[in-house]
Amino acid sequence: MTRNESLEALRLDGFHAVHTGHWKLKNNGHSVVLEVENGMSVSGGGLPGTYHTIQLHFHWGSLNTNGSEHTVDRHRYPMEMHIVNMKSSHPNLTSALDDPTGLAVLAFFIDLYYIENVHFGRISRLLPSIAYKGQTATVKPFPLIGLLPESHLSQYYRYHGSLTTPPCSQAVIWTMYEVPTYISWSQFEQFVTGIFSTEEDEEFVAHLHDNFRHIHPTFSRSVYASKDAKLLTATANHLYSPELSILLLQLTLTVGLIYGL
Ligand SMILES: [Zn+2]
Repeated sequence: MTRNESLEALRLDGFHAVHTGHWKLKNNGHSVVLEVENGMSVSGGGLPGTYHTIQLHFHWGSLNTNGSEHTVDRHRYPMEMHIVNMKSSHPNLTSALDDPTGLAVLAFFIDLYYIENVHFGRISRLLPSIAYKGQTATVKPFPLIGLLPESHLSQYYRYHGSLTTPPCSQAVIWTMYEVPTYISWSQFEQFVTGIFSTEEDEEFVAHLHDNFRHIHPTFSRSVYASKDAKLLTATANHLYSPELSILLLQLTLTVGLIYGL
């Protein structure tokens, strides 16, 4: 890992806005994908141009296994979210996949707490209607920033890599954020037990889980830490988490109430 002082926070355009139109949530048999419409883009932070946001999707484990695709100090998180952006100079995905910097994926670890994340609720409450492969649901656009660890967006790792699913094209500039976002255990359970990789009318029904690629060697490529990255270890992350601070405060207040403090 090499520190690169020039890697500042990316510019996220349109992520705070409520867009008009309709987004589509889809079970494609491999993941849950939220296809968004025009209006959002990412740039800066060392990216060679502007990239338009096309979709986001998830990788997850099971009730007993963690399922993030990246690991930090060998620690795998329960889940990972990928926001996929395509360089604006490309007319289509086929063209972008031929360019080593054609896609910019923003990757976020997702950790689990006991409190619901209302922003993720926009997605998780629709999961029952896309339980089976091929099913889709309409999503009213909402500000994507709500899904992100907003106060830690200048802390990330950067490397050049590939798609993690076939055709595994080496066309991706990866931005892996070091502070996780979070959902509740029950929201996680909806992904693990409520989504199937099979179609509704198939005789054999298979749960969709553990849809993450195994770790690959870096083949001597560099991984860069952004200017503000803390190079947190997986356990130290929690010490910096504002969400956990809130949770601890709530627990303290609850205990205080019970004991009349
Ligand atoms: Zn992915």
